[in-house]
Amino acid sequence: MNKVKYCIASVLFLMGAVVMAQEEGDVKTEREPGHYNQSRFKQLYEEFATPNTYRSASGAPGPDYYQQQADYAINVQLDDKNAKINGEETITYHNNSPDDLEFLWVQLDQNVRAKDSKSPLRDGNGVNIAYTAGNFAETFISEPFDGGFNIEWVKDASGKPLSYTINQTMMRVNIPQPLKSGEKLSFSVKWWYNIPDHTVNRARSGYEYFEKDGNRAYVIAQFFPRMAVYSDVEGWQNHQFWGSGEFALPFGNYDVSITVPADHVLDGTGVLQNREEVFSKEMMKRYKQAVKSYDKPVIIVNQQEAEAAEKGFATDTKTWKFKATNVRDYAFATSRKFIWEMQAVKIGSKDVMAVSLYPKEGNPLWEELSTRAVVQTLKTYSEHTFDYPYHKAISVHAKNQGMEYPMICWNYGRPNEDGTYSDRTKFGMISVIIHEVGHNFFPMIVNSDERQWGWMDEGLDTFMQYLAEQDFGTNNPSVIAPNEKYPSRRGNPADIVPYMGGDQKYISPIMSNPENVYQLGPNAYGKPATALNILRETVMGKELFDHAFKTYAQRWMFKHPTPEDFFRTMEDASAVDLDWFWRSWFYTTDYVDIGVKGVKKYYVSSKPTKEMEKYMADRNLTEADLPPLVYLAEEESEDFMPELKGKSPTETSQNLKEFMMDNMTEAERSQVKEPKYFYEITFDKPGGIPMPLIVEYTYADGTKENVTYPPEIWRKNDAEVKRVISSQKELVGIVVDPKLETADVDTTNNSWPKKEEKSDFDKFKENIKGK
Ligand SMILES: [Zn+2]
Repeated sequence: MNKVKYCIASVLFLMGAVVMAQEEGDVKTEREPGHYNQSRFKQLYEEFATPNTYRSASGAPGPDYYQQQADYAINVQLDDKNAKINGEETITYHNNSPDDLEFLWVQLDQNVRAKDSKSPLRDGNGVNIAYTAGNFAETFISEPFDGGFNIEWVKDASGKPLSYTINQTMMRVNIPQPLKSGEKLSFSVKWWYNIPDHTVNRARSGYEYFEKDGNRAYVIAQFFPRMAVYSDVEGWQNHQFWGSGEFALPFGNYDVSITVPADHVLDGTGVLQNREEVFSKEMMKRYKQAVKSYDKPVIIVNQQEAEAAEKGFATDTKTWKFKATNVRDYAFATSRKFIWEMQAVKIGSKDVMAVSLYPKEGNPLWEELSTRAVVQTLKTYSEHTFDYPYHKAISVHAKNQGMEYPMICWNYGRPNEDGTYSDRTKFGMISVIIHEVGHNFFPMIVNSDERQWGWMDEGLDTFMQYLAEQDFGTNNPSVIAPNEKYPSRRGNPADIVPYMGGDQKYISPIMSNPENVYQLGPNAYGKPATALNILRETVMGKELFDHAFKTYAQRWMFKHPTPEDFFRTMEDASAVDLDWFWRSWFYTTDYVDIGVKGVKKYYVSSKPTKEMEKYMADRNLTEADLPPLVYLAEEESEDFMPELKGKSPTETSQNLKEFMMDNMTEAERSQVKEPKYFYEITFDKPGGIPMPLIVEYTYADGTKENVTYPPEIWRKNDAEVKRVISSQKELVGIVVDPKLETADVDTTNNSWPKKEEKSDFDKFKENIKGK
C-alpha cells in the first residue's frame, strides 16, 4: 500500500512541477511590496548579535562569560513619624570584567520623584480621559512631592570623600584610579529621602496611610543607592529610570540592618539573623510549628494582636538584621498593622517557607488565599525551571500594588470594608500573587535586563503565571469547581486578538524598550505570554518546549541573559527552527489571519488536461514520449467529462490500472480502497504571521479528520497555498484553526462553506468605532 501511494505521489509531483513552472513569478498577493516570500523564513543573522566567547551561538553562556558582583552592608532607620528613610551603606564592587573601569555608575531610582525630575516633563499625550483624584491634585493643585535621594556624602574605604556627579537617576562615582580588571573596591554612601505615598502616585514602593487608626504600612524598595550593571552587552547599563523600564541589577551578598519602631512586624529579603531578639516568645513558638506545617499556614501574629498593636505607637525601636546571598536587590515591608503567617513547602529536597503579611484590611481574602497562591507558584515554577533556591517567598498585601523583589513582593486584592468581595477582586489577587512571586524566577534569578527588555521578565513570567493559575485551579476545588478552569486573563490565544488586530499606530514589536510603547500591558506581558503558550501547545508541543524552556532557565539561572540567549536556546535544545516565529511575533507588529479561500472538485481521467496538452504542444511531445500518466480533471473546467463521475480511479485510468497490476499482488489489490473524491483546497493568509495550518475536515457521514500542516507550508508562498486531498467520502466542511489556538484575528474566513456570522473581532472593531 505504501509503495503504490509513493509512486502515484511521484507522478503527481511531476504535474506539480509543470504547474509550478507556469505560475512562478505570477503569485498574486495583496501585500504591500517588500513582503516577499522567503523573508519570513530567513534566519535572523542580521537581527541577532554575533555570537562570541561571552555568549555562545547555542544560547549558553560562553567560556569567557563574566558578571560583576556588588556586595552591600546597609544600615537604615525608618522615621515613622516623618515617613523618612535614613541610611548608610558600604558597597564592595568586584570588577570581574576584562576591562579597567574609570568610574562607577550607581542608580538613584528615588530621583524619579525628585522635585526637579524630568519624568513628568516628557509626557506629550495632552489631557487624560480621566484622572484619579490623587493624581489630579498632584498634577494641578498641590506642591510637587519632595522625593529623591539626598546624598550626604560618598567616601572611599579610608573615609576620604569621593567626588561624584548626579545625572537624574544616575550617579557617577569618580574614582581617582581606574578599578582594574579582577580587582574590587569598597566605598560608602550616606543618604536620606522622604517616602512617597504609593497609593497616590503609583510608586513601586512607599507607604499607605490608614486614616482610621493613624498607621502606615510600608513596602520599601529602591531605598538605597544601587550599583548599575556592567556587562559584555551594554557596558554600563546607565539608561535613566524614567518610570516604565524597570531595573537592571548585579548579583551580590547583602548584610542589612533595619531599625523600625519596636511594635512593628517586619520581613524582607534574606535570612533573619536575630529572630530571638525581635520575636516574642509566643511568636517563636508559633514559628517553630510553621516550619513543620506543610498542609496549612501557621499564624505568627494574628489579627487580634495586630489590631492591639495598631493603637500602640511605640517610641522605642528594634533592629531587624538580615543576610542574603546571591540576590540582585533588597526590599522589606514593615508596619504595626501586619498579620503574619507561614507555611512550609517541599521543593525538591528542600523546605521553603511560603509567607504572607497583610493588614486586617486584607481579610477575609488574604487569610484564605494568599499563602495558597504562594505555595502553588513555588511548585509550578520550580517544575518548569529549577528548584526555587531561596529559603522563603513572601507575599505582602499593599493597596493597588503589584511589584516584585527577591523573596518578597507587594500585591493588591482588597475586599470591601464589610468583608465582601467580587470574583474580580479574588481572582485578581490570586493572579497578582502568582505573578509577583513568580518574578523570583524571572528576573530575580534568571536576571535579564528589565530596563532594556521588559518582555524578558514580564512575558516569561506571565506565560508561567498562566500555567500556575491553571494548576491552582486544578488543586483548589474550593476555589475552582472540578469541571471549571481558572479564569486566566492572559495566555489564551483568543485574548490577544483585540490587541494584535488593533490600530497599528499604537502597537510596537515585542522587541521594544518599555519606555517607548503605548500599550505596555499587551506589549510586554500579554503578547509574549500568548506567543510562548502557542509555541508550547501548537508549534513545538509540550515535551520539546518544556525541555528547551527549562534548559534556558537553568543555563541562565543567577546570570544575565539577552533575548538572543533565549531565542537561541529554544532552538538549540529542540531542533525546531523558530527564526520565523521570533521574527514575526517578536520583531514585527504583524498578526495572524489564515483562512480557507476555495475548494475545487476533481476526477481521475486518462485524457490529458488542457494544461497538459499545452505543455506537450510547447515542447513537441506526444503521450508516447512520456511515462504513463494519470490526470485529475476539475469538475468546473473543460477537462471534465460526465462519464468520470461516480467511477473509481482504476476504472477511468488505464495507466493506473496497469501500474497496479504490475506492482501489486492480487491479495494486495483486493485490500486497496480507492478514493472516490479528490479536492484541491486553497488556503490564504491575509495576516503577516506564518503559523501552522490547522485544519478540520468534515465528511458527509459526519466523521472529522484533523490535519496540522507545519508553518513551513508558507515558506515559498506567503499569501496562498493549495492542498490536494483524496477521500472515499464526500467532503462537506472545512474549518481552519477550529480550537482557536493561533490568535487568528479574523475568523470569518476560517470556514468552508463560508459562515455568515460575524467574528468576535468584527464585533470588537465595531464596538471600538462606536466609542
Ligand atoms: Zn511583572
